[in-house]
Amino acid sequence: MDIVIIGGDAAGMSAAMQIVRNSEGHTITVFEHGEVTSYGQCGLPYVISGDVESTDDLIARSPETFREKYGIDVRTKHEVTQVDCDHKRVHGKNLETGEEFEQKYDRLLIATGAAPILPPWEGRDLEGIFTLKTIPDIEAIMEDLTEDVKHVTIIGGGYIGLEVAENLIKIGKKVKMIDRGDRIAKIFDPEMSDKIQKEAERQGIELCLHESVEGFKGTSRVEAVVTDQAEHQTDAVLAAVGVTPNTFFLNGTGIAKGVADAIQVNAFMETSILDIYAAGDCATQFHRIKQRADHIPLGTHANKQGRVAGLNIVNKRKVFNGIVGTSIIKFFDLTLARTGLSEKEAKNEYIPYKTITIDSTHAAGYYSKEDPMTLKLLYHEKSEKLLGAQIIGHRGVDKRIDVLATALYNEMDMEQLEELDLSYSPPYNSVWDPIQQAARRVK
Ligand SMILES: Cc1cc2nc3c(=O)[nH]c(=O)nc-3n(C[C@H](O)[C@H](O)[C@H](O)COP(=O)(O)OP(=O)(O)OC[C@H]3O[C@@H](n4cnc5c(N)ncnc54)[C@H](O)[C@@H]3O)c2cc1C
Repeated sequence: MDIVIIGGDAAGMSAAMQIVRNSEGHTITVFEHGEVTSYGQCGLPYVISGDVESTDDLIARSPETFREKYGIDVRTKHEVTQVDCDHKRVHGKNLETGEEFEQKYDRLLIATGAAPILPPWEGRDLEGIFTLKTIPDIEAIMEDLTEDVKHVTIIGGGYIGLEVAENLIKIGKKVKMIDRGDRIAKIFDPEMSDKIQKEAERQGIELCLHESVEGFKGTSRVEAVVTDQAEHQTDAVLAAVGVTPNTFFLNGTGIAKGVADAIQVNAFMETSILDIYAAGDCATQFHRIKQRADHIPLGTHANKQGRVAGLNIVNKRKVFNGIVGTSIIKFFDLTLARTGLSEKEAKNEYIPYKTITIDSTHAAGYYSKEDPMTLKLLYHEKSEKLLGAQIIGHRGVDKRIDVLATALYNEMDMEQLEELDLSYSPPYNSVWDPIQQAARRVK
């Protein structure tokens, strides 16, 4: 088969590797808009502080490795602009030479990811205004962060905004964060995001909430961010207001789109058109708790979906069983983690729920009180099945959220959570883990 993949990062290259490892005799051609393949976008914010020393460290496999070691024909600087489903061909442009190309496929995978949103704010083309998605993006930001850049304004209090803020503070920049909502970190419930807000303020981040950005001022370079409330002087700006799936070029093809304009896929990563698959940030994910398609663009999902797509493309039937909405963020001294539904999401899905929140500690109280954590569980009002969890704390948040994500995936209820056989020794736990302490209060 002639297999064509559009997009050479997490989803696309996971699929390519599965094809190589599980089947023989195919021609695999990958068209990638950028210059690199298979790199860890998630590590980009840490380049700012030097926690990640070089962008080279983020690259898992280069185009040369894919070509020479695995026989995958990776063509970087190639943008696909059109898919002709009737004649099974993709059309595009070689961005280096300007030449147009056409490539036939028997099976096609769309793994084009998502692009950062930069609304049509006035003055958005001024120098010193950035978004963060790729290695060239972080390189441009790093080049710009000279001594003269003292104040950086971040628009958007989501996870990318928070991670970048921390890394800018680490290198001595003054950071202002503007968000049009009433709080930052809105994937958490309000009483949990309050704690994140307090940490932001404690670390010197100036928060400007309820402010909607309208544009920028400056002659050639940005000098101020203009909102509906004020004008904020600044030396540089990072816009981190979300992403949108790279699916625009598919308009008119008949490939069905769903939530947030992401490509609608079934459990085999098949789209509405025969022999065309999609995976990663450009596709929908089946949400196990909502029991419907959703769009939560994360690396964990992209790698899994890419893998499943690759296997199905070569007829090794494999199902993607869906997501539960798990994520984790380091924010200065805090770890913020969640899985499943927030209260807002449960309300939107008309799911009757109750909550229980406890303050506990990572280790046994008599051993150390240094790692407090707040743990909140959402559970179904009638069945008492777990619906979601949020944890904010220090050490040990990561293990608890993964226990809860596993419990959620396996549809466990509060009684089963209480009965879990979890590890115990004073430096790591209480004899009843905070998860069990919370679950047992549901009586
Ligand atoms: C700063 C940052 C931090 C993150 N942190 C985390 C984290 O901690 N945990 C987590 O799970 N996720 C994180 N993510 C999200 C994660 O990186 C993405 O979900 C993941 O990269 C998606 O993989 P993908 O292959 O679907 O898309 P992408 O990685 O976006 O790859 C798509 C590729 O397709 C190419 N492309 C697009 N259109 C075309 C076209 N028409 N023709 C040819 N090529 C095209 C693009 O150039 C791109 O290389 C983070 C993202 C960012 C930006």
